[in-house]
Amino acid sequence: MEIPITEYLEQLVAANREDSGETAQYIPEFAQADPDRLAVAFATPDGRVYCAGDVETEFSIQSISKPFTYALAIIDHGLAHVLEHVDVEPSGDAFNEISLDPETGRPMNPMINAGAIAVHGLLTGADREARDERLLSFYSRLAGRRLEVDEKVHASELSEAHRNTAIAYMLKSLGKLEGDPVDVVHGYTRQCSVNVTVRDLARMAAALSAGGRAPDGTQVIDPGVNRHVLSVMATCGMYDSSGEWLTRVGIPAKSGVSGGLLGVLPGQGGIAAFSPRLDAHGNSVRGIRIFERMNQHMGLHLMDAI
Ligand code: GLN
Repeated sequence: MEIPITEYLEQLVAANREDSGETAQYIPEFAQADPDRLAVAFATPDGRVYCAGDVETEFSIQSISKPFTYALAIIDHGLAHVLEHVDVEPSGDAFNEISLDPETGRPMNPMINAGAIAVHGLLTGADREARDERLLSFYSRLAGRRLEVDEKVHASELSEAHRNTAIAYMLKSLGKLEGDPVDVVHGYTRQCSVNVTVRDLARMAAALSAGGRAPDGTQVIDPGVNRHVLSVMATCGMYDSSGEWLTRVGIPAKSGVSGGLLGVLPGQGGIAAFSPRLDAHGNSVRGIRIFERMNQHMGLHLMDAI
């Protein structure tokens, strides 16, 4: 029996309330986040959005920003130049591990912190503010509305950014970071602190599903760049559980420590979930469960298309 999409999403939220895991603890904003929040959204390539649960709740985008910044860096410089600074190999390590290729010194991929910091350093812009604004307006075009930085989250992230700052200095010493390490970490933590809802994330995912076309129909990411970004998300988007994710759910995805999870169905649309409790890899427990349920119900797995 067919049921309307919104009703299906509401049933999904109601049936997957049971939770486990811990909210991220490294800054007070996450430790205090309401762990019971749960939301899911689906967006079509032309930007229609269906959603259920806590759809108005805003949370910081965190690592889900990484594939989008990567796309902008490739748009700015071309793939060959970006690949000189960051590789495309799954690291199998945690998101904040200093995973560098022993021969070239490149971070293993742009979906872990080391790679994302190198990528942020590549962004074109006259100064820190200009780069921040370019990035924010790029995300906003893909989301179909003006997004803003959560200044409190940003200040907290910055005050705890010792490890990311160390990574930036390490990259600088290896010749893999363009720009000043402190400036780059300032911008990287700002990109992580952009507030979104599941609706925004579903739209951003839908743009990737549409070959880089934003909800308003404009081509924001070149299709070749879009394909490259989706490929890296498929192999590296879920940190050190990327292999398990690809075998079980089978779609390009990206998670973030505030509990967001975004998945792309090429040609068909974008899915996003939000639930702040995380598993040991830093991925949303209920977010993953919701994608697995949808996979059981509708067969999302790309390898099933064969
Ligand atoms: N701001 C976080 C960090 O850089 C983002 C990491 C994440 O979402 N996994 O540590």
